[in-house]
Amino acid sequence: MAWKWYDSKIIKIEDATFNTKRFWVELPNEENLDFKAGQFVTMDLPIAEKRLKRWRSYSIANAPHEDKLLEFCIVKLDGGAATEYLFNEAEIGTPIKFKGPSGTFTLPEKIEKDLVLICTGTGIAPFRSMLWDILNSEKAHKKIHLIFGTRLQKGVLYEDELKKLEKAMPGFSYSIALSRADELPEDAHYHKGYVHPIYLKDYKEVRPDLDFYICGWSNMIDDAVANLIVELGYDKSQVHYELYG
Ligand SMILES: Cc1cc2nc3c(=O)[nH]c(=O)nc-3n(C[C@H](O)[C@H](O)[C@H](O)COP(=O)(O)OP(=O)(O)OC[C@H]3O[C@@H](n4cnc5c(N)ncnc54)[C@H](O)[C@@H]3O)c2cc1C
Repeated sequence: MAWKWYDSKIIKIEDATFNTKRFWVELPNEENLDFKAGQFVTMDLPIAEKRLKRWRSYSIANAPHEDKLLEFCIVKLDGGAATEYLFNEAEIGTPIKFKGPSGTFTLPEKIEKDLVLICTGTGIAPFRSMLWDILNSEKAHKKIHLIFGTRLQKGVLYEDELKKLEKAMPGFSYSIALSRADELPEDAHYHKGYVHPIYLKDYKEVRPDLDFYICGWSNMIDDAVANLIVELGYDKSQVHYELYG
């Protein structure tokens, strides 16, 4: 398939946490990106001579309804070519050329099962897009449980929005797992440790009316897929994932 390239510009940058920023890019007037919640774009960043070495993919973090504006939630990787560029050189007005939307990490048109969304760090981006899409378009759904993991409380992303979604969206709940925190905040959503014990306990009885969506880096995804399919015995078709690297 021939890829369409878009020329956007950064219009806003905000710190999300100590090592993560939110970037908003805007498309030119005549352009519109028709994407599904959960999809990603691939940016061509000025970080190398060779074309393929310049390409990095980022999930679209906002819901499809917001015309011309795309939000990305990006964590800085020390020594990482793209993130060093985005964090240290990119500014308001910087052009961002990207192709997309791509990917099949999307929810079905009709949501007929309970959903468990498991992520670490910026792996929350596609889920944020899906959740606001469900709310904004009043899409029928069953129970949705988001399990977000990070090391410390200062790394928690979009917590204010999770609180809002929990109030606004019947059936939505969330859990936050902190793997390196000595103490937990006084908040029932918080758990000590990794994301894994949460779903291993809550969903240990295998049910056909439940699907898992997992997003993040390979260490977490490998463990989650093995836990769900090999240890608990869920069918492969019930486990969907988006691997960041
Ligand atoms: C479909 C898709 C969607 C993605 N969406 C996002 C997103 O929304 N937000 C986001 O922050 N990143 C996202 N990524 C990751 C992103 O594409 C880059 O890999 C990341 O920003 C690092 O690029 P870099 O050039 O700074 O580092 P590089 O110089 O390319 O990275 C060096 C190495 O570190 C690994 N690595 C990169 N980041 C991490 C990490 N946090 N933890 C462990 N290992 C890591 C890479 O796999 C690589 O092997 C996505 C990746 C894919 C494939």
